Amino acid sequence: MSQNTWKNWAETCVCHPEQIILPHTEEEIIEVIKAAAAHGKKIRVAGNGHSFTQLVGTDSLLLALDHWNGIVDIEGQSARVRSGTNIKVLGESLYEKGLAQENLGDIDVQSIAGAISTGTHGTGIQFGNLATQVEEITFINARGERITCSEAQNHDIFKAAQVSLGALGVITEFKLKCLPKYVLQLRNVKNTVKDCMSRLEENKKQHRNYEFYYFPYTETVQEKISNVTDGEAKEGGMLQYLNDIILENGAFKLFSEVSRIFPSSSRAISKLTGKAAGESVRNTWSHRVYATARWVRFTEMEYNIPAEHFEECFYEIKKKIEDTQYDLHFPIECRFVKGDDIWLSPAYGRDSAYLACHMYKGMPYEKYLRDMETIFKKYEGRPHWGKLHYQTPDSLRQLYPKWDDFHAIRKEMDPNGMFLNAHLSQIFIDEKKAVLTE
Ligand SMILES: Cc1cc2nc3c(=O)[nH]c(=O)nc-3n(C[C@H](O)[C@H](O)[C@H](O)COP(=O)(O)OP(=O)(O)OC[C@H]3O[C@@H](n4cnc5c(N)ncnc54)[C@H](O)[C@@H]3O)c2cc1C
Repeated sequence: MSQNTWKNWAETCVCHPEQIILPHTEEEIIEVIKAAAAHGKKIRVAGNGHSFTQLVGTDSLLLALDHWNGIVDIEGQSARVRSGTNIKVLGESLYEKGLAQENLGDIDVQSIAGAISTGTHGTGIQFGNLATQVEEITFINARGERITCSEAQNHDIFKAAQVSLGALGVITEFKLKCLPKYVLQLRNVKNTVKDCMSRLEENKKQHRNYEFYYFPYTETVQEKISNVTDGEAKEGGMLQYLNDIILENGAFKLFSEVSRIFPSSSRAISKLTGKAAGESVRNTWSHRVYATARWVRFTEMEYNIPAEHFEECFYEIKKKIEDTQYDLHFPIECRFVKGDDIWLSPAYGRDSAYLACHMYKGMPYEKYLRDMETIFKKYEGRPHWGKLHYQTPDSLRQLYPKWDDFHAIRKEMDPNGMFLNAHLSQIFIDEKKAVLTE
């Protein structure tokens, strides 16, 4: 076995690549791909390992693009960005140039390519997932060819490449549409489930970014609301850091450990954290608002369902949790996203709601997540590609109208499956029907 070890953040994917390669230039990436093709090797690309699934796992070649980062240039309000760029670093670099991304997820440690390639999203019904911010993609396919695609150029390849799970080739560059930099006012509001649900549609429309966390075994939610403000951006300073990062994360970590050691305390802990949920307001530059520090590690499943089914699905999840009494203390995160036309985007063709279920690292999660998935499936749920799910090629094919079109492009770009690993083969290739035999 190789001495190299790579693992993801949640440690749900641990692999031993034959070689970990850190290219500095696009030419090096092309050379690696051509050499791999000549020697029948496989390649996976790692972002920052924040997917929970086995997307990155390989025992062959692993490309890590840590040295392939930064902004290449700015054209008007668009930025050309190298694919290995870390989202936090990108946010600060765009800020220095007077720009910002229109929306982000709730962490900023991913690589831009990793986040875009799995359909990573934030919240806000005016905004699609991060892949909708992409105007142009350049990637290197399995023949070592440099492909550039956009709405206008190689349109079908573009629709496949926007969310591709790294299956078409190695993305080297994105052109991202940005906005002039802006300040957001973030409010955390404690509320009841009943009031939250009765004002949900109003809140989704009224606020730029609206989401809420539901605390299992309670009637409590914490709403997170952001809107653009003319107010001055105030950086939190040491006190804010102490409260948000040290105290909140520290206390939650402590509760989580108690839960792990005494699982039957989980329900009481969920009630306690619901009670302790605070209210706060702060104004900060947008790229510093979206992300939250995550010291407490967990495993996660997140599903996209059509927005109109949200309330029914939410109440069914809540009831199932109460009836089953899982050892669970993590809140359910609920977000809302605009539909898009990206072939493998979970929000393809529909305005969507996302519900995310977490379990503390080290605690059994399979029964809980499988039960939740059964409910999501009733509502035409599509899984987040980076988060745990138990779908098969057949079930996924039913969910994605452009499934076969995606795979036609994939086979054109990668005829011998150089970019497939065991996980991708498992979710892409329906051996029974032999529809997609390699
Ligand atoms: C604590 C935490 C919070 C999260 N919050 C959110 C959230 O708010 N919203 C949300 O939607 N998701 C969220 N996620 C999921 C996360 O955004 C995705 O799983 C994302 O893909 C992780 O990015 P990464 O850089 O770590 O990529 P990795 O997980 O390393 O890779 C993801 C995929 O991208 C491919 N890839 C990476 N770089 C390239 C490249 N250059 N060319 C081709 N393929 C490439 C990889 O091969 C792999 O298939 C969260 C995850 C965690 C652990």
